[in-house]
Amino acid sequence: MLARMSSEPEQQIGVGSPDAFQRLWTPHRMAYIQGENKPSGPGAGDNCPFCAIPAKSDEDGLVVARGEQVYAVLNLYPYNGGHLMVVPFRHVADYTDLTDEETAELADYTKRAMGALRAASGAQGFNIGMNQGAVAGAGIAAHLHQHIVPRWGGDTNFMPVVGHTKVLPQLLADTRRMLAEVWPAA
Ligand SMILES: [Zn+2]
Repeated sequence: MLARMSSEPEQQIGVGSPDAFQRLWTPHRMAYIQGENKPSGPGAGDNCPFCAIPAKSDEDGLVVARGEQVYAVLNLYPYNGGHLMVVPFRHVADYTDLTDEETAELADYTKRAMGALRAASGAQGFNIGMNQGAVAGAGIAAHLHQHIVPRWGGDTNFMPVVGHTKVLPQLLADTRRMLAEVWPAA
């Protein structure tokens, strides 16, 4: 055991170093996917993944937290380690169609997602926002979702929007558990 450990490269951990999520994701940054899990049409019954996720267990659906109006879930094809999405339970495409209650909880869950990511990974910055419509880059335009993408200084595994990474289910499971454990209370 000691001999095996001493043969491993020394880990550099500290301020400005790659965080746990980045180390977790590094082996997978060059894997690409072929556009799986896209809904076939505009309706809620058309294989919409964001409508299907809440029926799954947290573990199977990679759900980090569930509210009254929205839920937080890991992106299966993250731009960066820990890439979360906040999604209304209701199948709705346009931000202007959200109810006041949905709007408020989407904002609140975005804040909590930032808090959880800071606590679990030391995220130093975030890209946050929604792509509205396929023309704007929404992968699943029929069901809106707020992206919360953690960033670190000098992060090297940030993927452009066109280059989705595929990660191993076990790594996503570990990340889901880490974030669920530190998810801020109301
Ligand atoms: Zn939907």
